[in-house]
Amino acid sequence: MAEPGRIALVTGASRGIGRAAAVALAAAGHHVVLVARTVGGLEETDDLVRAAGGSATLVPLDLKDFTALDRLGASLFERWGRLDAFFANAGVLGALSPLAHLDPKLLDELVAVNITANARLIRSLDPLLRASEAGRVLFVSSSVARKPRAFWGGYAMSKAALESLALTYAAECAATGVRVNILNPGATHTAMRARAMPGEDPVTLPTPEDIAPLIVEMLSPEWEKNGELVNYREWKLPAG
Ligand code: NAP
Repeated sequence: MAEPGRIALVTGASRGIGRAAAVALAAAGHHVVLVARTVGGLEETDDLVRAAGGSATLVPLDLKDFTALDRLGASLFERWGRLDAFFANAGVLGALSPLAHLDPKLLDELVAVNITANARLIRSLDPLLRASEAGRVLFVSSSVARKPRAFWGGYAMSKAALESLALTYAAECAATGVRVNILNPGATHTAMRARAMPGEDPVTLPTPEDIAPLIVEMLSPEWEKNGELVNYREWKLPAG
């Protein structure tokens, strides 16, 4: 088999924004490494990747299993010796509730999945990203990280911490070939959005497939900006 082009790791690839990003990255010539817990969802993404002419490696794991994240970096190193694109997309919403009523278990999950797993992945993947000719990292945040709203506190504070993590890593990578940025997709037609806003008509929202081209662009070697937050809606305006 011919050597693949760029290697991309996508977390949260079993549905939603992660799935659409994986398919678009594969169509753009990446071999995609797909991470999520739901094997059936990963297999469906794999089918879409193949239909787009690409190839995937499936890695079913729980991002709360931090030692598995260490092993993931080691496996990628053994197989390819580098990682060219890391789409740090997986996230959980928790529950919309007053902070005083935030379920301690859901709070632990928000911190583990939205923050700690990403810090542990950076620890595991940093040497691989630096080994790439143009390592690119893209974290997915949300408007509430910078504009807190009542009842969104657990999710909002986890995304604020994630943005701080991303900007710190961007600063540390400034003198290397690695570029680290943040995407705010805005309200998007996915399972997470439906849970957050059950009364909303999803047809009014952009789809993950609408957002995927921006993700491919921000993970490409041509994307030279570092430490930037890009809002999908602002990116779309000049183009559309
Ligand atoms: P989604 O449809 O709920 O998908 C979330 C993905 O994360 C799934 O693939 C899920 O896979 C994975 N995931 C969750 N917990 C995991 C765990 N413990 N281990 C491994 N994988 C896990 O959500 P989405 O709307 O596509 O969201 C993607 C990102 O965009 C998130 O970071 C979200 O915060 C952000 N975002 C979304 C919106 C929106 O309106 N949709 C707006 C702003 C920001 P499994 O369940 O199979 O593990």
